[in-house]
Amino acid sequence: MKKAKKYIKFIVVPLILITMVFNLTACQEKVLQQVDGEAFVLGTYGQIRVFAPSQSKGNKAIEKAFQRIRDIENTMSTSIENSDVYNINQNAGQAAVKVSDDTLYVIEKGIEYKNITKGNFNITLGSLIELWGIGKDWQRIPAQEEIIEAQKHIDINQLEVEGNNVKINDPNMLMDLGGIAKGYAVDEAVKVLKANGIESGFVNLGGDIFVFGEKPDQSPWYIGIQKPELNSSSVMARIAMSNESIVSSGDYERYFIEEDVRYHHIIDPATGYPSDSGVISVTILSDKAIDGDVLSTAVFILGLEEGLALIETLEDVEVAIITSDKLVHISSGLDDKIEILDKAYRMAN
Ligand code: ADP
Ligand code: MG
Repeated sequence: MKKAKKYIKFIVVPLILITMVFNLTACQEKVLQQVDGEAFVLGTYGQIRVFAPSQSKGNKAIEKAFQRIRDIENTMSTSIENSDVYNINQNAGQAAVKVSDDTLYVIEKGIEYKNITKGNFNITLGSLIELWGIGKDWQRIPAQEEIIEAQKHIDINQLEVEGNNVKINDPNMLMDLGGIAKGYAVDEAVKVLKANGIESGFVNLGGDIFVFGEKPDQSPWYIGIQKPELNSSSVMARIAMSNESIVSSGDYERYFIEEDVRYHHIIDPATGYPSDSGVISVTILSDKAIDGDVLSTAVFILGLEEGLALIETLEDVEVAIITSDKLVHISSGLDDKIEILDKAYRMAN
């Protein structure tokens, strides 16, 4: 009798447990709800979508993620008074500034990428970026002498980092994290969502995107590549992906036009002018959006050959480069992932 009881326990209890787990997963799949949030952050349109057990849990996670993004903006903006970057720039040539661990991480990444990108990505390009003021109310074509003068103050070796203390030694040099902070913010927002129990969704900060987990209906995530044309919001290709980031840079987003010439926001440190490499759009796939943010800008400046060559040397990074002749050039790992949707664009290789 005793033995039989034990036997029943051994069989019945696990059976009940297994059934419960099955029911739970079935329930969860049914009840996961799509929750969307949007906000204007880091000077761009921010969008977060999650699949959550309830609207309120989804909204709560999204709100926390946006808060994290705002915190990053408040420490890394060049214009927000008393941000770390604002303070570093105010104290250029005078004193070191103690910065947050976030800012330190992004600055150190930036320094690393200066070498990887052969100087084309430079977080101390502020003097040139301010001079052009693309997207700001003081945007204009600077005089050649002004450009030459500003170019004298973009030497990253003038940046001194000791622990969390950061100092710019050159009084005329300025830091600008505009090409890297957004990617970092995307990565951090995803961390916050996951820490709040979200298992799938995406974060999109003006084209810096991270997609994670699976959709409840198991259909693939398709992320579109925007048509690199003025005033166009349609998509020219799509990429199936998950658990990685996709970041695009182009010359069609922030610019001004004077006498039929378009001046955009990606500055070539070598010329001091908006880069003119024949590339009109760069899309990077990588494990982290911070890397995608930097590399999309850098490849844009490096141009097709050098840009493609750089990406082929980096592990787990892929690229789609669109040149002005509407040809799409991809790195070796992107072959079966990209699908062209607009017939005006063709695969080059
Ligand atoms: P978007 O915001 O369109 O994604 P990017 O990520 O390409 O643009 O970054 C552009 C921003 O990066 C500029 O607005 C400027 O703040 C900064 N920037 C421009 N040129 C460079 C450069 N060569 N190296 C580092 N940062 C740059
Ligand atoms: Mg970018």
